[in-house]
Amino acid sequence: MRTMPRKLTKAAAGEMFSRFRDAAPAPATELNYKDPYTLLVAVTLSAQATDVGVNRATGPLFKVADTPEKMVALGEEKLGGYIKTIGLWRNKAKNVIGLSRMLIEEHGGEVPADRELLEALPGVGRKTANVVLNVAFGRPTIAVDTHIFRVSNRTGLAPGKTPLAVEAGLERITPAAFLRDAHNWLILHGRYVCKARAPDCPACAVSDICLYREKTSPTPTAPAPAAKKRKAATRSAAKPSTSKRSRATTRPARASATAAT
Ligand code: SF4
Repeated sequence: MRTMPRKLTKAAAGEMFSRFRDAAPAPATELNYKDPYTLLVAVTLSAQATDVGVNRATGPLFKVADTPEKMVALGEEKLGGYIKTIGLWRNKAKNVIGLSRMLIEEHGGEVPADRELLEALPGVGRKTANVVLNVAFGRPTIAVDTHIFRVSNRTGLAPGKTPLAVEAGLERITPAAFLRDAHNWLILHGRYVCKARAPDCPACAVSDICLYREKTSPTPTAPAPAAKKRKAATRSAAKPSTSKRSRATTRPARASATAAT
């Protein structure tokens, strides 16, 4: 018999987001940008790339091209020189020039705050449109990337087989007060705590709420080999140390990591 995915209640989801809010009251994207246009370019470049890698490329790029007009004037070839370190850069360069041209021709050089118009731009899909609507225009949209997809399924917050199903589940279960920031909280949680290969469950602020069946345990401290202990004991018995220095080097065990989201 097929088992249904376990799902959090709305109250549990509310408690989870409230803890995320306590840990990070004003979560923000880690992509560098200065306005809706530079955000749109940065998000377009970020597909299958890290925010750090994108920031490294957009730093110098935005110094010479931070408007659609300047980007079109820069041209695809020169733009490629700035973003070569990012995966799929040829295609991305083509899309950035294409969307910049379309913004000039159809939107007076402005980024539209409208999903349909955003998705009509070259290289802009639902996920990119959601990020821009959320981060640049404050809309309560949730862009389901790889981190949010994983966290939503593992925790039982919004289990789903596709990003669209997860997005719909998150919109249903997230209390209205948390919708605006849910996207950034979930990304940060997935990136730094509920990591893909080794989730840091012992340090997780929501582990008592999370329904994941394979939570990780604290790494046990390796016991000192018996032989080593015996040798040390013999040495100390034969020549007891009385110096201040040797007593001062005895340290208490390190405190365990605190919750981090
Ligand atoms: S307890 Fe583990 S699996 Fe659950 S959310 Fe926290 S890090 Fe992720």
